[in-house]
Amino acid sequence: MIKAIVFDLDDTLYLEENYAFSGMTFIGTWVEENWGILGLESELRRLWNQGIKTKTFDHAFQNLEYEICQNSVKELVNVYRNHSPEIELEPDSIVLLNRLQNKYHLGLITDGYKVAQNNKIDALNLHKWFSKIIVTDELGKSYWKPNPRSYKMIEAEFSCKGKECVYIGDNISKDFISANQRGWMTIQIQRPNKIHKQKLKLKPEYYADMIIDNLNALQDGIWEKL
Ligand SMILES: [Mg+2]
Repeated sequence: MIKAIVFDLDDTLYLEENYAFSGMTFIGTWVEENWGILGLESELRRLWNQGIKTKTFDHAFQNLEYEICQNSVKELVNVYRNHSPEIELEPDSIVLLNRLQNKYHLGLITDGYKVAQNNKIDALNLHKWFSKIIVTDELGKSYWKPNPRSYKMIEAEFSCKGKECVYIGDNISKDFISANQRGWMTIQIQRPNKIHKQKLKLKPEYYADMIIDNLNALQDGIWEKL
């Protein structure tokens, strides 16, 4: 019998691109107010739409014809990670969490820089639904998924193991391997607008038991059918 349902955060419960857009707006205003530079947000969005997602600040300032030193880039990355994002849960996430809340223990395991992840958790008001939230970065960088530590912490917190636990995430390279090895049920959600499109070929143990594109697919009783 299922006791605990555990979720990933980014691109599972909300769209990570909306976090990026929120950051672009915040950074655009910050740069305008602090450095007097106009037009950064629209340049960042233009680059994003072109698929340029690394060294974005360097490219953007170059295109705006400003020279920027690496310390300033670091400062901007810091501002970005520390900003309080304007993001929302996807509608199907709210429906599912409301439905599951009083029937199961709900847990969250999320990677990413701790300040940024905690700001997302606050913005999405996740403590309303989750009784155990693990930001793996708070344990240390080596405990990011797929390290099994956070999965073990969930088992200890909710006194459950193996087929009593479900993990729902999006990233095959790290979300499911530890859960599979511990006998959990695993479900991959592939939201059409997810950031990381994965074309990897991995060993079978990296894949989830089931793939869905919307959490509405998880009707009551689905857990027993896996
Ligand atoms: Mg994710």
